[in-house]
Amino acid sequence: MIDPAQLRKDFPALDQQVNGHPLVYLDNAATTQKPLAVINALDHYYRRDNSNVHRGLHELSNRATAAYEHARVRAAQFVNAADADEIVFTRGTTEGLNLIANTWGAVNISAGDEILLTEAEHHSNLIPWQLLAQRAGARLRFVPVRSGADGDTLDLDALEKLLAPPVKLFSFVHVSNTLALVNNAKKFCALARQRGIVSVIDAAQSIGHRPLDVRDLGCDFLSVSGHKMAGPTGIGFLYGRKELLEQLPPWQGGGEMLDSTTYETAKFKPAPHRFEAGTPNIADAIALSAAMDYLDAVGRDAIADHDARLSAYAYEKLGALDFLRILGPKSGRAGLTTFVMSGVHAHDVVEMANIFGIALRGGHHCNQPLMKKLNAPASARASFYLYNTAAEVDRLAETLVKIKQYFTR
Ligand code: PLP
Repeated sequence: MIDPAQLRKDFPALDQQVNGHPLVYLDNAATTQKPLAVINALDHYYRRDNSNVHRGLHELSNRATAAYEHARVRAAQFVNAADADEIVFTRGTTEGLNLIANTWGAVNISAGDEILLTEAEHHSNLIPWQLLAQRAGARLRFVPVRSGADGDTLDLDALEKLLAPPVKLFSFVHVSNTLALVNNAKKFCALARQRGIVSVIDAAQSIGHRPLDVRDLGCDFLSVSGHKMAGPTGIGFLYGRKELLEQLPPWQGGGEMLDSTTYETAKFKPAPHRFEAGTPNIADAIALSAAMDYLDAVGRDAIADHDARLSAYAYEKLGALDFLRILGPKSGRAGLTTFVMSGVHAHDVVEMANIFGIALRGGHHCNQPLMKKLNAPASARASFYLYNTAAEVDRLAETLVKIKQYFTR
């Protein structure tokens, strides 16, 4: 079991007062705080090793290249990829998904084909496919979210039926950033593979919270963001199964991604370098590697266990407040709680919580169509990470009571 009180000491941003109260940071689904190990890795890189990678023959460039390529190896280990060449550095989950849509999609999706998503997708796993479908004349299908006795869950019977030709690709969220729903990614990928359908996992909300093993999951692609796993912003990676990645054309052109070129044509490097045009985000890749080391030192099973406990505690505490409607399933929830306060707009909830030093998020959480379907155009979200405590959940619950009282005076 982890000791969040101890771990908090590694995260300098947590140690501050906001509006005269100790900060309670519950906006981790948007971005997590960074441990000293990550901050120090950035500092060290810029103070000592700063140089461009791959093309230099001097000491600093060699160091930067070694650290950057080590980060790729580290990312491969982190998700148990068979080969470091299966890891493409990106700006984050969004860019990874766009990369697939613009490369795999460009080659494989044409008029009449279908792309299957779920109704719980973040905009970053919706809009790239909308753009592709519009370009190619393909059709998007959606596994419905249904609301019943077990809360808001995915309609798994519908999924079984929809996951069939002419669907060519199934892209789904592992952990929903709004519903706290945890999809059975391994089962979804197995079903897709049996039916000859390519599977893509949006693992933005799961990568920093539980062990992930791409070979065990059996996915074809998996996209993640560094900043949601204690790493820096502006860096993430895409895992792509080697056989698939190797066949894909580049999607951006520039330096670094080619072996040779004339004025007319170019010969591209093999994957993953062919997908990394231009100077990459060297410093943040290296610091992401430090974040992965940090998470592994804490223990990803222990983090998942902490998430589950805190999430169950929050569900119980906030569930006891009869003026809140909590979205998502009733059990098996991930470490976040999204709620609607009756008679109070989510933005007012979030602004008032801030007065008490609590950081929440309010709005549609980049799930606009889903929020509309659930008749909750705006909601507030508390999302947890390894440094959050049950006492912070208590403070949240007490504050929500005060906010409700304030608005009903
Ligand atoms: N997918 C999910 C489920 C998310 O929660 C997010 C961000 O909140 C994203 C994708 C997009 O991540 P990024 O903005 O880091 O690309």
